[in-house]
Amino acid sequence: MNEKIIDSHCHLDMPAFDQDRQQVLENARIAGVMGFVVPGTTQASWQKILELATGEMDVYPALGLHPYFCAEHNTSQVGQLRSLVEMMRPVAIGEIGLDFFRPDLDQNLQMELFELQLQVAQDLELPVILHTRKAHDQVLKLLKKYPVRGGISHAFNGSWQQARQYMDMGFCLGFGGMLTYERSSKLRALATKLPLEHLVLETDAPDMPGAAHQYQRNSPEYLPEVLDILTEIRSESRQTIADVTTLNVCRVLTLPDRTRPVSDPQDA
Ligand code: ZN
Repeated sequence: MNEKIIDSHCHLDMPAFDQDRQQVLENARIAGVMGFVVPGTTQASWQKILELATGEMDVYPALGLHPYFCAEHNTSQVGQLRSLVEMMRPVAIGEIGLDFFRPDLDQNLQMELFELQLQVAQDLELPVILHTRKAHDQVLKLLKKYPVRGGISHAFNGSWQQARQYMDMGFCLGFGGMLTYERSSKLRALATKLPLEHLVLETDAPDMPGAAHQYQRNSPEYLPEVLDILTEIRSESRQTIADVTTLNVCRVLTLPDRTRPVSDPQDA
């Protein structure tokens, strides 16, 4: 039987899945994926994500304004986000953060939107799902200003020192397809040495395909391949890595833990 794992980050709402979303979900479930966290990107994505989560009880919605799409955002949307979050109680505010990798993205607007969304997360006591590129120190500084109740630093690509600070603030670090590339030696070294209690699996589908699916659409069906590589590079067993990373997602995002067998009513 396949190990039960959770895809802590996949964009199943995206048009790339419009043709075969149900099939993808089915294939992933057969592969052992028992939960799908789907983070918001733009205001336009929120309704689609909430509808998807209403129809599928293993799909967990997060709502937020993704820094990569900041040209489409404005600060008044954060007010709308707050009302929708109060009403719908997603599992997290996300994906939010800072992307300083792409020079064409307005850094001041990103900072403003990020701070406002951190305040929403803080006020409504929700964890956050972070997207950070070339900006870990700036993100960590803002997390100290607005202490939220932890979350996930998705597609983690920072240093050991930065990882340490996230972990101290109650965060888990997300690892996905990048680990499957031989050239990712620095990332593999980090994923080997981090305490298992702070590690979560993700695909970031439809983006970031692993080595076996280069140039193709990524999919939560391929999440077991991330488990494969972690089993190869870490000392724990495949089952332990699956169990602990699943529990980690349940803990930081307060998801119901469906990995435990439902107790036999005759035992009661
Ligand atoms: Zn993402």
